[in-house]
Amino acid sequence: MLDIHKFPCLNDNYGYLVHEPVSGETAAVDTPDAKKYLAEAERMGWKITAIWNTHWHPDHAGGNLAIKEATGCEIIGPAGEAAKIPGLDRAVKEGDMVDLGQSRARVLDVPGHTIGHIAYVFDQEHAAFVGDSVFALGCGRVFEGTMEMMWQSLSKLKALDPRTRLFCAHEYTESNARFAVTIEPDNTALREYAAWVKQRRAEGQPTVPPVLERELATNPFLRADLPELQAAMGHPGDAVATFAEIRGRKDRF
Ligand code: ZN
Ligand code: FE
Repeated sequence: MLDIHKFPCLNDNYGYLVHEPVSGETAAVDTPDAKKYLAEAERMGWKITAIWNTHWHPDHAGGNLAIKEATGCEIIGPAGEAAKIPGLDRAVKEGDMVDLGQSRARVLDVPGHTIGHIAYVFDQEHAAFVGDSVFALGCGRVFEGTMEMMWQSLSKLKALDPRTRLFCAHEYTESNARFAVTIEPDNTALREYAAWVKQRRAEGQPTVPPVLERELATNPFLRADLPELQAAMGHPGDAVATFAEIRGRKDRF
């Protein structure tokens, strides 16, 4: 079993410390804010033994060196952007396994937001650390890859066990929900989800991690392969063009 500690960082990032109690090993998933991570680890009584980066953006790898200096931890990160990950010790890609004590995560390549973006999937624990690839009711902006690449990445995430919790890196859910209802105004599950999100945020509560099963029924970016949505977006039979249309609308939203 894993203890997963979540805490807000910077403006709208989440920090995650993943602790395996038998070994005592603790992974910092991304490093938006070194001070905050070190303070939270201390508060939990955990020692950070590894950093697991999802991609090179400064709100994900900016705290690497300070945390490594303070703890001597090993830094694991994406092979596809190894040169941009400060202090990288071990580059990983799809097919690789990363152990945290008795728990094991497999690495998925999920490029698009950045060209080497990876996710860490704990299959047994139904937990995936997905960085900026997918969000609750959203997905990352496609900065470095192509729309087709991003759709393929989201398709891999869609295929995980539907019970998987998606530990995404940002609390963007409320604005994502406002956008999603413009794409699927008649989706009842989405309407209910959006109302729940609004209430949670009004109470200052997080909406992350979402569960994949709910995202499959509501997140428009994961639904570009549905004939109804393809028709509504004007691209029947074309998931990539439908995804690109939705992504483009969100970028202008
Ligand atoms: Zn990013
Ligand atoms: Fe980010």
